[in-house]
Amino acid sequence: MNRGIKLVHDFLTQMDAYYSSPDTSFYDNAIERKFFEQKLRHIGFKPYPNDGLVTFGASGTNLCDRQLVFKNDKATRPEKSADIPFRGRQRRQGTAIVDYVQLDLLHMPKRLKGAESFRMAVRDNGEWDFEEAAQERRVFSHPHPETGELVSFAITAKPDGKFQYTPDGSRVIFEYKTKASGLRAMNGKLDYKGAQDDHQRQVIAESLVFGINEALIVYESTQKPSWFSDEESSSVTKGQKTWKEGAPLPDMRAFYVKITEQMQRELLDELARQSTLVYESRETGEVPDVSVEMTGKCGFCQFRGHCKITMTDGNLTKLQRAEVQMAKGSMAGKQTHRQVKAFIEEVAA
Ligand code: SF4
Repeated sequence: MNRGIKLVHDFLTQMDAYYSSPDTSFYDNAIERKFFEQKLRHIGFKPYPNDGLVTFGASGTNLCDRQLVFKNDKATRPEKSADIPFRGRQRRQGTAIVDYVQLDLLHMPKRLKGAESFRMAVRDNGEWDFEEAAQERRVFSHPHPETGELVSFAITAKPDGKFQYTPDGSRVIFEYKTKASGLRAMNGKLDYKGAQDDHQRQVIAESLVFGINEALIVYESTQKPSWFSDEESSSVTKGQKTWKEGAPLPDMRAFYVKITEQMQRELLDELARQSTLVYESRETGEVPDVSVEMTGKCGFCQFRGHCKITMTDGNLTKLQRAEVQMAKGSMAGKQTHRQVKAFIEEVAA
């Protein structure tokens, strides 16, 4: 078994052993109290040092160039607007699940009687090594990939956990993601593509901050299989069945990432390039043009309105030309084409 397969196997075995045990339906008072006391100690806003450097959150290293410039411009405020209510509930559900998975992980050494393979690491001050307690901001000076000039910027990271892998004592970054798309959709997508690209970028960024070069990215579906098998149930359509061949579909999947120096260098190259755009914009007031690729990142952007009203006629014309070409070729109707088309329509509205 190679190391990645072994770590994934050990983690899932540990999680299944814990959640199937009758001992896990209540919490240990001392562990639970310590967990919430640690959380309490870290409630509050902690600003970054005022050093003028671009600071990337580890989970936010995939912003479009323009979005990053807006984000780092003090005069441009993120737009806050009302959302569809279920999305708020879904966000809250995801946060709550991660909190309780962390609390469960802290119970595993006791409940599994030392048979656990992954243990939450403990910091020198006795706190568990996750979230705000683990948060670090590290400054990098990295050459711009084209000019070779050194560019300074920072990455800040607060992981869902840093594990100690008990068989050999090594450290492993832990990120936990919930999925509300349903069991079948989650498994289908993970089977096809593996861990999401942005989640892999997150653990690469975290590896740079913490100096740990292995990570587990774990997904949990908020839809669970039917309590009892629904395979024979005539009231459940084939596409909605949550059991297969006598077993429930997996509601938890884990992916191992071995972070190489090349992966780190590629990310640093990209962050150095983007940081330069921010520093240049501070001097010139200019913002990067919108490209076709960027329109794929608009879904969660908090500067959509500002982006559109500040768009130049020349930039819009370029996008329109690109869209016309796409409409005539093999890209017609594909996701990229739909995104750029929707963006142009919104600008024109
Ligand atoms: S709206 Fe889209 S193109 Fe504009 S800044 Fe946001 S992500 Fe980038």
